[in-house]
Amino acid sequence: MHKNFKNIEKVVFGRGSFNTMKDILEPVRKENDHFFLFVVDQYFKGKELEKRLPAGDEDVVRFIDVDPHEPTTEQIDTLRDEVLASKGLPSGVIGIGGGSIMDIAKAISLMFTNEGSSTLYQGLNLVKKPGIYHLGVPTISGTGAEVSMTAVLTGPEKKLGLKCDWTVFNQVILDPELTESVPRDKWFYTGMDTYIHCIESETGQLNNAFSHAYAEQALKLCQEVYLGENAGQTPENNDKLMVASLMGGLSLTYSEVGVCHALSYGLSKILGEKHCYANCLAFQHLEDYYPKGLEEFRQMLHQHNIALPRGLSKDWTEEQITAMAQVAYNLPHMWNHAIGTDWKEKITLDTIKDLYRRM
Ligand code: NAD
Ligand code: ZN
Repeated sequence: MHKNFKNIEKVVFGRGSFNTMKDILEPVRKENDHFFLFVVDQYFKGKELEKRLPAGDEDVVRFIDVDPHEPTTEQIDTLRDEVLASKGLPSGVIGIGGGSIMDIAKAISLMFTNEGSSTLYQGLNLVKKPGIYHLGVPTISGTGAEVSMTAVLTGPEKKLGLKCDWTVFNQVILDPELTESVPRDKWFYTGMDTYIHCIESETGQLNNAFSHAYAEQALKLCQEVYLGENAGQTPENNDKLMVASLMGGLSLTYSEVGVCHALSYGLSKILGEKHCYANCLAFQHLEDYYPKGLEEFRQMLHQHNIALPRGLSKDWTEEQITAMAQVAYNLPHMWNHAIGTDWKEKITLDTIKDLYRRM
């Protein structure tokens, strides 16, 4: 199978590049009802960045608290309905924040033009019409959501992305300066999403020269950022991690993620754990699948004084473990990549439950 994916239309990179947004948006403003919807991480409310938003009186600026839960279908539908009812169809959506905000911006851009609930479109190529213009500005590096063709939403039935060519951003502004305020623990967990994307992309049957080239470079950057001589949250490393995030995302797009992401989806769906943290919780127990990556991951934990909890499963009920295992088992593309086309002969629901019991 050959993967044929759409890329972001335009990318600007560099410290201070946030300031290019005003000029970038100007020609787009003539579209639709001549206003923009800004969805911004609540963290920036009252901060300097709020003053720098190129938003006029006609625009809608929504600060969103992404911490209580990952983006939901209901949240997208409600915001879409409110904006359409009060102002009409925006010229475009601008998302400023982490993976959660990137996904909200991508999803709502599609839902402005596709009728009904976003639950109808969770899956591959279910979206009927192109969305409206959308621009992403990541403020924390790691998920690769800035480049991916999916907008992951949690719905009543499933945690699954709206995945199609139209999901991809028209424009991305990569300004590493914006990541300077990220607290150390979040910097670590979200950056590890990139690291794990690369390890999983590399370890499996879909790995190929194209995905490998991106993973190799992104891994090198992660190693410099987390283990190098000048490891830590320096301006130079913030630049590197932002590039690594994008390349890691491209790598998995042309290959696939694996066991860790399958388990992580179970943790998020059933226990509400956030994606990047859930990955770290799972990855520390995957010596059977990713021994080399895990060794390096442990060095990174040690170097940055990050202590991940263990023994969590003793507080989980059998029902919760089974439910998580079912979520993970129902991601055949990940197992197929990580284990092989005969994965069902090697991985059963019980194998997966045992992996959860290790946590
Ligand atoms: P996030 O958007 O959930 O934000 C994490 C935390 O960092 C929040 O508390 C936020 O307020 C804070 N934060 C962000 N930028 C900051 C800054 N500059 N300074 C201070 N604090 C800042 O984090 P994430 O880890 O980037 O994203 C996780 C989400 O991404 C999940 O919902 C997951 O499902 C999704 N995801 C999507 C894809 C995709 O391809 N679409 C891939 C992986 C993950
Ligand atoms: Zn991930």
